[in-house]
Amino acid sequence: MPNDKTANVVICGAGIAGIATAYHLSVERGVKNVTLIDERPPLSLTSDKSTEAYRNWWPGPGNAMVSLMNRSIDLLEDMARQSDNRILLNRRGYLYATGNPQRAEIYKQAAAEISRLGAGQVRFHTGSSDDPSYIPAAPHDFEDQPNGADVFLDQELIRQRFPYLSERTVAVLHARRCGWFSGQQLGMMMLEEARAQGVQFISGRVEDVDARNNCVQGVRVRTEQGAERIAADIFINAAGPLVNEVGAMLGLELPVFNELHLKLNFSDHLKVIPRDAPMVIWEDAQKLNWSMEEVDFLVEDPEMRWLLGKFPSGIHLRPEGHGESQAVLMLWDYHKEPVPPIIPPPDDPDYPEVVLRGLTTVVPALQAYLNRMPKPMIDGGYYTKTKENRPLIGPLPVDGAYIISALSGYGLMAAPAAGELLASHIAGDALPDYAPAFLLSRYEDPAYQQMLENWGDVGQL
Ligand SMILES: Cc1cc2nc3c(=O)[nH]c(=O)nc-3n(C[C@H](O)[C@H](O)[C@H](O)COP(=O)(O)OP(=O)(O)OC[C@H]3O[C@@H](n4cnc5c(N)ncnc54)[C@H](O)[C@@H]3O)c2cc1C
Repeated sequence: MPNDKTANVVICGAGIAGIATAYHLSVERGVKNVTLIDERPPLSLTSDKSTEAYRNWWPGPGNAMVSLMNRSIDLLEDMARQSDNRILLNRRGYLYATGNPQRAEIYKQAAAEISRLGAGQVRFHTGSSDDPSYIPAAPHDFEDQPNGADVFLDQELIRQRFPYLSERTVAVLHARRCGWFSGQQLGMMMLEEARAQGVQFISGRVEDVDARNNCVQGVRVRTEQGAERIAADIFINAAGPLVNEVGAMLGLELPVFNELHLKLNFSDHLKVIPRDAPMVIWEDAQKLNWSMEEVDFLVEDPEMRWLLGKFPSGIHLRPEGHGESQAVLMLWDYHKEPVPPIIPPPDDPDYPEVVLRGLTTVVPALQAYLNRMPKPMIDGGYYTKTKENRPLIGPLPVDGAYIISALSGYGLMAAPAAGELLASHIAGDALPDYAPAFLLSRYEDPAYQQMLENWGDVGQL
């Protein structure tokens, strides 16, 4: 094969992770001759399936996740300012709600802890005259909004502020440096600027990485024109759910697995969900609400009986779109086992009914749709994850090889800071305090292995 091409850096994967890295290398650091390779159109595998939400509200241990996200949100806000908010960034917040009085107590502790990690001040609203003031979110703006969280522990106040929530709701935590944006616009903006700085996009499949003597020498790519070799000293694995396949090309086994996550796009023509609502998350596990006849039917059918069992916490929704849009995005990750990344992902025909029923626990007025549900659109993809739900960003144990992956359910919000962090590793810049928390080599530390045994909340939605 003629050795007719060279690049300084080859990035495998033009999802949000690969694009953010190309942007930070070329636009922010002036690195020349960066080549981005993808066998699909940019952003089309996982990065366009996201709920496009962001938050700085992350559990510990340590402040690495809060710091990474705060940095990423700083960068998102800068890009929104520079582009007349082309990325449609809002700051509506995440509304975590519970009907369990014990969880209300946990909210108090968790809020204090996450605040201490750097997510901002917590304000408690208990119905007393000493309560701090509550500033509702501006639905389409992100400037001059509160930080931290407002915790409501008084049912009367909850009813006043969030009348659509179930009357069973006993506590609500409104995390404020959170909201959503257009991930597609973010990705395209970074890609356009990177290409203007000379980043090449090659439509093709990376078939192999040449890493003789434990040192990256180049890649073999299959394009429509045939096979070609690109000589390069630096190779970045940004292959999303296919990260293990690409890792194997370097002879590496990575501690990463995939979970299937689906998403429902539902037309709320009865206008049950206020168009200016925040992201709403129900934090309690639940059983679905079936009629007696339905229970009798389900109990008899071994293939359907699981619908009578307990479903996990974390069901969530948010309104989507502007103007006349009636769309509401609804998600519930009740299948959380690791699976091979089959593309396109398999269907789950029960998903719409299960999700809608689950959400009637949170927003009872959604029951109006149970007998006649508008035809929903379903899509989804894979959360590519490590055990403790933290990403892999940094060098690999092959000279010149790097990874930016395992971005789980937070890859869009994390991409600006994750791309910046990887570009800093490659350019040899000073690294932020949170860098070590995302290295692959963290797993070599026996103390870290021990922490993994009792990790606790991984902050997944
Ligand atoms: C249902 C759902 C909801 C989500 N909600 C949110 C959310 O609200 N907020 C948020 O921040 N994140 C969310 N996420 C997560 C986010 O979408 C992902 O973390 C992010 O898109 C991962 O980006 P990536 O670039 O790592 O992977 P991808 O977007 O999958 O990109 C990887 C690319 O690598 C390419 N590739 C792989 N192997 C090769 C090869 N050998 N040769 C050439 N190309 C190759 C693929 O074609 C693909 O284009 C959600 C995800 C899902 C599935």
